[in-house]
Amino acid sequence: MTNRRLRSLVTAILILAVLLPIALSIWFARSHANEQFNDELETYTASARARVEMVIEQAREALLVLNTLQTTPCSPEHLLALRRLAYTHRYVQEVIWMDGLSPRCSSLESSSRQQPFPPPDAVTEKGFRAWYTSRTDLDMSYEMVAIGLDRYAVIIDPLTFIDVVPFSSNPINLALIGTTSNHIIASTSTLSPDIWQTVREEHSISFTRHGNRYEILPLLNAKLMIVAWASLAPLEKAWRDQLLLWMPFGIVISLLAAAFILRLLGRLQSPRYRLIDALNNRDLTINYQPVVELKSGRAIGAEALVRWPQPDGTWLSPDVFIPMAEQTGTINQLSAYVIERVFEEMSDWLRQHPDKHIAINLAAQDLSSTVLLERLTRLCAGAGVATRQIVIEMTERSVVDPDITGPILTRYRQAGFRVSIDDFGTGYSSLSYLQELEVDILKIDKSFVMALERKQVTSHIIEIARTLKLEMVAEGVENPQQEAWLCRHGVQYGQGWHYSKALSAQAFMRWAEENLASREDETLLAPPHA
Ligand code: C2E
Ligand code: CA
Ligand code: CA
Repeated sequence: MTNRRLRSLVTAILILAVLLPIALSIWFARSHANEQFNDELETYTASARARVEMVIEQAREALLVLNTLQTTPCSPEHLLALRRLAYTHRYVQEVIWMDGLSPRCSSLESSSRQQPFPPPDAVTEKGFRAWYTSRTDLDMSYEMVAIGLDRYAVIIDPLTFIDVVPFSSNPINLALIGTTSNHIIASTSTLSPDIWQTVREEHSISFTRHGNRYEILPLLNAKLMIVAWASLAPLEKAWRDQLLLWMPFGIVISLLAAAFILRLLGRLQSPRYRLIDALNNRDLTINYQPVVELKSGRAIGAEALVRWPQPDGTWLSPDVFIPMAEQTGTINQLSAYVIERVFEEMSDWLRQHPDKHIAINLAAQDLSSTVLLERLTRLCAGAGVATRQIVIEMTERSVVDPDITGPILTRYRQAGFRVSIDDFGTGYSSLSYLQELEVDILKIDKSFVMALERKQVTSHIIEIARTLKLEMVAEGVENPQQEAWLCRHGVQYGQGWHYSKALSAQAFMRWAEENLASREDETLLAPPHA
């Protein structure tokens, strides 16, 4: 994976790492509030069920006891027994003795004037009957539930079925429905008819409608159904409260994750990673600066100089990134890349001009093994380029240990490559190594060319090269005066802005064609004995 892709991936992970904990905290807050809300509703429904069952059980038990009474119906003893029973059963309001469906006497009156009961609204499998009525013998209309077995009936206030105190933080409503006659026996507030419709048609046990949450609990044996419902409005507030609780966790985790990933991203954006990335993406380009024969001005070759284009359109100087590549151990990769690009771009030109060369800068680490030598030899053979057309440039500083570098340079020369000492005169090493090392060319550093008049040392450097019978290339030739001075002092070759700046491969080849053509013209025009 390239560094660029890795960066996109890490950035995506960063966005996720920031968003995820916050999203999760929102989700936790929401689900926690929801869960609490539903739990409360369910618990409340369950306690309502327990209450309904308890009331029914009491009525059932009272009816079973009543049916064991042996006394004469409506006699004083019988009436006393009825009263006692009503008195001792909390939920029973009245106990009635019936002749068929006609009440005859009750715990409240010795002789009843009540109308006969209508056919029951519901009959259970065990023979219990139930009526929902608002008729009483007390000259008042009041919704009542009557549960009967054989000749007895007990009257129960329907509100006792739903008299359950909610212990939740939200108000909860409750309704008890008789499923046989679809009669709302009791409810704490009005139950919308369409809800009742839904309950009957869809048999759902839990649903949300009109901003309310509904929970349905059928009591099949009793032919009853409990409906509990609560408004969702308080849920919003509970959700916000939960958010206040969870959000700080989410934010802290987001910040920690972001800090960690930013550190990682920082490392990926470090110069080393960026350089490796640029190499893998082949972002680095090579420019070629012509090297000319001072006497004739004819191009004899070029020096390959690497360039690193930046996203903002500028170029990073090799003076900045070459030392960095040397320090971070990427220089071998960089040198291999430069060599590969030089052969891609220049092998045709070199084949067409067998007397021309390309100089390639190598670093100290490149010269500690023969890996590059083997690579260069292979490339030359593959491209049909003579090894003498490649010049290795190395600085004095590259020769850290002449015992190691010396034999490797010898191998280069044996293979046919030429070796040039770059920036000559700026290194600190003694001149003695020059005698030990086998080199072909000395490149006089541009600092010695710039102020020729003031730097008498330049003529001494030239002297050394002459003594060692080395060819000389003067760097940084910027004007004709410098050119003339160097020529006078026997320097054969030069390189500098006076001739050309470093050019792209195409531009260099065009420049070289023009240069060679114009020199040919000069030769043709020159007088025969000039
Ligand atoms: P260098 O090998 O001494 O390269 C010559 C430098 O002088 C180049 O700078 C060139 O653009 C500059 N120059 C050429 N003519 C003139 C002139 O007339 N006046 C002045 N003032 N400067 C001139 P550049 O391209 O910035 O390269 C800087 C250094 O980076 C090079 O110095 C070389 O040491 C290193 N370098 C460049 N390319 C490579 C490479 O592919 N591999 C390695 N290992 N080092 C490289
Ligand atoms: Ca150089
Ligand atoms: Ca140089």
